[in-house]
Amino acid sequence: MTLEQFWSRVFNLCIKFNGSWTSGLRTRKRNRLKGGHELSRHQSGYAMDVVLDDMRDDNVHAFTEAAEMIDIRVVDERDKGHLHLQPTNTDIGRVYP
Ligand SMILES: [Zn+2]
Repeated sequence: MTLEQFWSRVFNLCIKFNGSWTSGLRTRKRNRLKGGHELSRHQSGYAMDVVLDDMRDDNVHAFTEAAEMIDIRVVDERDKGHLHLQPTNTDIGRVYP
C-alpha cells in the first residue's frame, strides 16, 4: 500500500462515515510533544487519527469493519478522543528509532 493509497482509503472512509482527520503526519518533535509512541507511524505518514460525527459503538464497529476490508486497522482510542488508523500490514510505514 503506497502512502497515497493509504491516505485515499482513509479519505474515502471519512467521506462515507462522516469523519474528520485530527492528526496525520507528525515530526519526531511533534510526536514527542503529543505523547505519541516512539515508533508511531504518524512519523512516516502511515497513521491517521479520525473522529466520527457519531462515535457510538455501532457506528465505530461498522467503520472498523469497513476499514478492515481495505487493509486498514482501527485502534479504538476513544479514551483519547479519536480512532487511530494505520495499515494492517505492520511492515508498511515502519518507523525506526
Ligand atoms: Zn494515532
